[in-house]
Amino acid sequence: MTETQKQAELRPAAWGLELADWTRVVAELQLPTFRAKQIWHSLQERLIGSWDELTLLPANVRRELAERFDVAALRVREVREAADGVRKLLLACRDGELIESVLIPAESRWTLCISSQAGCAHACAFCASGKAGLSRNLVAGEIVGQALLAAHWLRRAAPASASAAPARTPPLRPQNIVVMGMGEPLANYDELLRALRILNAPDGLHIGARHITISTCGVVPGIRRLAEEGLQFELSVSLHAPNDSLRTHLMPVNQRWPLAELLGACHDYTDRTNRIITFEYTLVRGLNDQPPQAQELIRLLRGWKCHVNLIPLSPVAEFAGQAPEDRTCEAFQQALEDVGIATTLRRSRGRQADAACGQLRLRRLHQPA
Ligand code: SAH
Repeated sequence: MTETQKQAELRPAAWGLELADWTRVVAELQLPTFRAKQIWHSLQERLIGSWDELTLLPANVRRELAERFDVAALRVREVREAADGVRKLLLACRDGELIESVLIPAESRWTLCISSQAGCAHACAFCASGKAGLSRNLVAGEIVGQALLAAHWLRRAAPASASAAPARTPPLRPQNIVVMGMGEPLANYDELLRALRILNAPDGLHIGARHITISTCGVVPGIRRLAEEGLQFELSVSLHAPNDSLRTHLMPVNQRWPLAELLGACHDYTDRTNRIITFEYTLVRGLNDQPPQAQELIRLLRGWKCHVNLIPLSPVAEFAGQAPEDRTCEAFQQALEDVGIATTLRRSRGRQADAACGQLRLRRLHQPA
C-alpha cells in the first residue's frame, strides 16, 4: 500500500492493479489463473461499478475482493461542454478531493488531458492548479480511472451531443493521453508510471506509448530517471522563458533546477533515448513574447533536434498577464522557424469550459456545491 493510500485509509483502488498483480491476487485466493484476466477485463473494459456485477465469480470471492479493493476510485461530479467540442470532467476522489480531466476533439481522434496530483506544489505564476497548493499525489487507480471514465462517458454521452462535436466524429475512446492536467507528474513518479503501463497494456485501453505525453515543469531527477527506463512515452518540458531570471519569475521550480541543469538533463535524455523533446512555451504579452526573448530561446535550442510548442496564455483570474496578439505570436514562431527550430503555434481550446489547468477545480474550491 502506498503512503497516499495509508494517509487516506482507503482500500487500494482496483483500477491501479496491473494484470500481473491480479495474477498474484487470484493465486492468493486459490483461484485458477484465468480469473485474473476476467477481473482485469471487467475493470478495464466493462467498467463494473460493483464487485457484485462480476457474476462469473463465486459470491465468496466477490466478497473477499470487495473487502480488499475498491472497484471505483473516482466518480464523475460534473461534465462541462464548450462550443468547440471540448468536454471538461470534474471528478470526485473517494476522500472528496476534486480532480479534472479534459477531452479535446481533433479531427478523427480524442485527446484526453489527465491530472497526476490533486493541486500542485509548483505554483507557476499563470497556472490555476498551483494556486491552492498541493493536496496529495493521486494513486495509479485515480490516474487510470480518469481515462476509463472518459472512455465510458464518450461511449454513453457523446452521440447525444454530436452537434457540438466536429464534422468527423472521433471514435469513442481517447487515442492520445497528455499528462498536462493538474499536478506535476514527475513528482508522483511511481504511481504515474504504473498508471501509464496500465493505460498502455494490450488488454486494457491499449493507448500507444507514443500517444502518451508526460509534461513536466522541469523536475530534473524525474527526467533523468525516465531516461533510464527505455520507455516510448513522449516527454514535454515546460520552459516558458529563455533565461533564469524570467523563468524563476514565472516558475519557482527554476530556483531548484535552473535552466543549465534542466537543459543538461534534457540533452542527456535525448542522447540516451534518441527521442525528440517538446518544449512548451506559453506566450505572455510583453513578458516573454518579444524578439529579444525569441533570440535568447534560439541560442538555447539551436541545432538541437527538438520541438517547440508555442501556447498563447489562456487568461486566468489569478494572473494579471494577457495573451499576445496573433501577429506577435506568429512573429515569435517565424523567428524560430527561420533558424530551423520546429514549432507549433497552439490555439488554446476549451476556454468556455474553464479548460486551462485547474480552473474548474479552483472555481469549485471557491464555491463548493
Ligand atoms: N506540471 C506539468 C503539467 C501540467 S501543466 C507542467 O508544468 O508541464 C501543462 C502545461 O500547461 C504546462 O506547460 C503549463 O505551464 C501550461 N499552462 C498552465 N496554465 C496555463 C495558462 N493559463 N495558459 C497557458 N498555458 C498554461
